[in-house]
Amino acid sequence: MKHTKLIIAMMVAGAMITGCAPKEQETKKEVTPAIELSNMDTTVNPAEDFFRYANNNWLKNTPIPDEYPSFGAFTEIDEHNEKLIQDIIDEVSNDTAAIQGSVSQKIRDFYNAGMDSVAINERGYSELLPYFEWVDGLTDKAQLAALLGKMHANGFGGFFSIIPSMDPKNAEMIIMHLYQGGLSLTDRDDYLKKETQEMRDKYVEHVTNMFKLVGVDADAAAAKAKSILKLETELAKNSMRRVDSRDPDKTFNMRSIKELQKSTPNFNWEEYFANAGSPALESLNVGMPDYIASLNKVIRNTDLQVIKDYLKWKIIHGSASMLSDDFADESFNFYGRFLYGQQAQKPRWRRVLGTTDGCLGEAIGQIYVQKHFPAEAKERMEQLIANLRVALGERIKNLDWMSDETKAKALQKLDCVNVKVGYPNKWRDYTKLEVTPESYFKNVHNAITFENDYEMAKVGKPVDKEEWYMTPQTVNAYYSAEMNEIVFPAAILQPPFFNMDADDAVNYGGIGVVIGHEMTHGFDDQGCKYDEKGNLNNWWTEEDAAKFKERTQQLAKLFSEFNVRGYQINGQLTLGENIADLGGLNVAWDAYQMTDEAKANKSIDGFTPAQRFFISYGTIWRNNSRDKYLERQVVTDVHSPAEARVNRALGSMSHFYEAFDIQPENKMYIAPEGRANIW
Ligand SMILES: [Zn+2]
Repeated sequence: MKHTKLIIAMMVAGAMITGCAPKEQETKKEVTPAIELSNMDTTVNPAEDFFRYANNNWLKNTPIPDEYPSFGAFTEIDEHNEKLIQDIIDEVSNDTAAIQGSVSQKIRDFYNAGMDSVAINERGYSELLPYFEWVDGLTDKAQLAALLGKMHANGFGGFFSIIPSMDPKNAEMIIMHLYQGGLSLTDRDDYLKKETQEMRDKYVEHVTNMFKLVGVDADAAAAKAKSILKLETELAKNSMRRVDSRDPDKTFNMRSIKELQKSTPNFNWEEYFANAGSPALESLNVGMPDYIASLNKVIRNTDLQVIKDYLKWKIIHGSASMLSDDFADESFNFYGRFLYGQQAQKPRWRRVLGTTDGCLGEAIGQIYVQKHFPAEAKERMEQLIANLRVALGERIKNLDWMSDETKAKALQKLDCVNVKVGYPNKWRDYTKLEVTPESYFKNVHNAITFENDYEMAKVGKPVDKEEWYMTPQTVNAYYSAEMNEIVFPAAILQPPFFNMDADDAVNYGGIGVVIGHEMTHGFDDQGCKYDEKGNLNNWWTEEDAAKFKERTQQLAKLFSEFNVRGYQINGQLTLGENIADLGGLNVAWDAYQMTDEAKANKSIDGFTPAQRFFISYGTIWRNNSRDKYLERQVVTDVHSPAEARVNRALGSMSHFYEAFDIQPENKMYIAPEGRANIW
């Protein structure tokens, strides 16, 4: 499923879904200022470092809370949101009269079971034993396919993954997709590069410790950990690189089941799919055919005992957050503290709240929007989106590098972009999800199998166009290439992104750029390969495609030359997001110019509307990150670090030069011929 999001959720392993953390702030009754001037630092020259000009006092006054790897505007709203969700859960939890089987009963019992640390600690890892028995029962590699199917249906990882999603050649239908998987570190290179030797050593220590916690003696545990690293290293060597996996032409490879079976003769796919809960398949998309083919050899050359140890490790690892504290703590020590630099684990209530929200998202979302999403916000948002669509259309018509033929196709695609704002029209039905007060582990597993059944039932059926891939309480937004739609959950419609009381310059520089960003994803280096119906179908003339490539490569080069605190950005990995940021800025700017406010050109707080537009943009990316987080981000994240999304993106925005008088001697300056000019 390819959904290009504005940001990605922070990767904090241990907890399945991340919750949020504190920073006491009284609820503001009065109007939130359009721009918090006290967050800026006007002693910084905006032409030298715009990110710090717009945010430096905020950056200095907002230390990263111990439980975060990085903290910014998104996480600030997350925290506020978490309080709202906690209130909903509290309200529901106090409802002792909730009817058995109602969503209130489910939210209440899910949360309360998760908070029952006494029971959870008493159980230790005993709830894993039935799954260990599955693995112990494996006496022959020929049985592996069936076992792996059962494991995947129960939410445990291993070797690869499957996901029902749109058929890229016929986006109306859902087909099965098969992808590489099975690694436990953050990237294939973590296993292969010299620089990550320490990470591998720590990983082996961590796996050893986890095996010790399930009663394996120290020497045997260490031996298991080493062979698991060796096996995963083999998987890593055969894995497609992240940059390549962004290319839909490389990851779309329809295969019949017979062809798939031929590529991996020792793995019985029919048995696998039947046990994974999938309907019988005739064909599917194999995202990484070389990787899948390599599995045959890897499995053949690996001792059965090592495969069993690997599968047990996947079970322990995937369950750590639901087991006793020793497991959650050990998992945090490696995945949170070592990999991302977090100083403390989130308190239990935050972790459980996150998991409850992850498993019963639309049940909570339904209550959330009733309480916290005003109808005016939706109307204002729809108006903004309409204005942005007009502005992007005008920009496409005026492009000097694109032929009329391709322009007509681009405009047709833009016309067809579907828009969703706030919350779904149709809510998810949780009737079949069983939740009891007895066991947190069991509830989470019920939620996982409930989700698996839901997903697998989609295969071979038409796409449900009403479905949302984010809950309304998620602080984010996305573009789906196959649905050709942009989606803005209720929760992102808050300051600093969106402020009902702010001047237009501030809203266009904030949520306006976010809207433009998502729209531009339809035309980034991935999105441009999909047509107006969401099909992978080339609509470009050869000449225009070549010019587009040249222009996007200029942007890739600009980002590859940029670093944040010494962490070099990968311009190819982040290309789609950077195209979207630059496009978003241009489109929002043009849309703003059409407003009466822009025409009146009145300064507020001593800043011109143009300046306020850019300051607002700088503000949405305010963010403090730990070094370890940045180190992981530049390797794994398709989004550039926040500082680059401001200081590098603005370098290609001509109106920014006028607004802040940027001169050749300034750091923000890029010579006109070196700037990226795409949409
Ligand atoms: Zn994006």
